[in-house]
Amino acid sequence: KDWAQYEIERIIPENYDNNDNFNIQRENATLFTLCRNSELYEILDSIEQLENRFNKNFHYDWVFLNDEPFSEEFIELTSNMISGRARYGLIPIKHWSYPPYIDEQKAKEIRESRKWASITYGTSESYRHMCRFNSMFFYKHPIIEEYQYYWRVEPHVNFDCDIIDDPFKFMNNNNKKYGFTISMRELPNTIETLWETSKLYFKKLSYDIFDQVTQNNLVGFISDDNGSSYNLCHYWTNFEIANLDIYRNDLYEGYVQHLDHAGGFFYERWGDAPVHSIIFSLMLKREELYLFQNISYEHTVAKSCPLNDAFRKKARCVCNPVEDWTIKSNNCCNSKFLEVGKYEKNDDYDKYV
Ligand code: GDP
Ligand code: MN
Repeated sequence: KDWAQYEIERIIPENYDNNDNFNIQRENATLFTLCRNSELYEILDSIEQLENRFNKNFHYDWVFLNDEPFSEEFIELTSNMISGRARYGLIPIKHWSYPPYIDEQKAKEIRESRKWASITYGTSESYRHMCRFNSMFFYKHPIIEEYQYYWRVEPHVNFDCDIIDDPFKFMNNNNKKYGFTISMRELPNTIETLWETSKLYFKKLSYDIFDQVTQNNLVGFISDDNGSSYNLCHYWTNFEIANLDIYRNDLYEGYVQHLDHAGGFFYERWGDAPVHSIIFSLMLKREELYLFQNISYEHTVAKSCPLNDAFRKKARCVCNPVEDWTIKSNNCCNSKFLEVGKYEKNDDYDKYV
């Protein structure tokens, strides 16, 4: 396989030192963005904030992937703002197309049926490829394969506080495997058969993955009845920081292959968020999952703000804790996560709930 063709550009800032020009020990980690050329100004907004709030002090790489070649303008304007190496990759066609066991005509008829017209992204073909890519292919891209950790960043998101400590370093030092900021409930009609399909896979495994006590996992985050049904809670994957080992193993790979053959990425509209959430809540130990309560993050409908008055001052936050969505909304699952996993809550949590 000639993977070289899938890295189309690599831009290294002046004065950049592979090892440590800046007296910083970086992890083997990268910021990672999947996006379209048409989202240039929205991603510049995200980059400007994350560079300012975090990466200007660390100079991590930033990997951009796209199912089409990035434009010169996209490469020029994004790399211009990044203090680490900016790398631009093309997604192999076989990671963004139909596998032979999917009936394309059937998928098309489903998208055009009345049911899907009223569901968010229900009629979109590209959205389905995107969710499938984020579920089963992004970590196989030759550029991403070089790293141990990634931090997913989307266009048009906001970071309202300084990120003072390096989250990658934190993950490594504390043996965290999957980190998030916001969790919420999925639209049930997009994943009608996901849970039953998942259970068929877990049934084949030799140990009882649904036993939270013996497995020390977080099944209680995704199920309120010990695995009988899915409660729709999912880590919101538009922000995620993870150790790529959690994808690079037979349990994960077997799971997504099983899901892909069942067809729900195309015949329904399975999101990568419920997929990641189901498998990682079952597969990881509770100590390996982590809620970043001191990263202020906003994407579309939801925003988190650290419930920690001293930290907000130290991190020069501009968010209002009273507006923190994660404690205000019934649709959020963060408090369930903290309670089920018996994690420590932020210093001023009780003051704001
Ligand atoms: P939402 O967050 O669920 O509303 O979905 P988005 O439209 O934000 O898509 C999620 C991520 O995938 C974003 O980073 C998008 O830029 C990216 N994305 C979505 N569709 C495509 C696509 O067709 N091509 C590429 N290259 N990126 C896409
Ligand atoms: Mn988005």
